[in-house]
Amino acid sequence: MSPVAHFIGSWLVAVATTNNVRDRRLVTLAGVLPDLDGLGMVVDVAKSLSSGHEMNFHYYQKFHHVWLHGWPGALLAAIVLACFAQQRWRVALGCLVTFHLHLLCDLLGSRGPSPADLWPICYGEPLFRHPVWFWKGQWKLDSWQNLSVFIVIFVVALWVAIKQGYSFVEVFSQRADAVVVGVLRKWTSRFLAPKVRDG
Ligand SMILES: [Zn+2]
Repeated sequence: MSPVAHFIGSWLVAVATTNNVRDRRLVTLAGVLPDLDGLGMVVDVAKSLSSGHEMNFHYYQKFHHVWLHGWPGALLAAIVLACFAQQRWRVALGCLVTFHLHLLCDLLGSRGPSPADLWPICYGEPLFRHPVWFWKGQWKLDSWQNLSVFIVIFVVALWVAIKQGYSFVEVFSQRADAVVVGVLRKWTSRFLAPKVRDG
């Protein structure tokens, strides 16, 4: 699934499991962190630009879905992020949940363009080579299934924002979040307020 879908889905879990903005940020972060192992692509691009050769995805393919898509990465992320939390045990558990939700979503919907481009989940990596899981029916990254899931969680996230008074924008800035929530509430009050009849 796309990093944006991972982000919003993780924030929804954070809203349900924590009670302050700092902890929500940490639990959300754990749900997007696994894709940091895809940053090898930056090295690939830099190498291609500096050498003038056509880009190969050597580092991206070598590390992506290997370094941070298994239980060792999940454990490390939960321990490190919990150190910064207000409610440490709660955040550690929340981080394990969002991290694994990320893995589950990748298992379901991160296939490449051809049916053979399945992304496996190497759950023991980088410490152990096993177990390795994959699903033959894996959805394409840009499939209608992924898009549908994204639309559903996006609408739920907007609804939560209007109801609770904070949105996923709070992960970046609480000031910007206040503006976004203000606009959302204004729109909904305009559309949902009962019409006053004249006379
Ligand atoms: Zn991933």
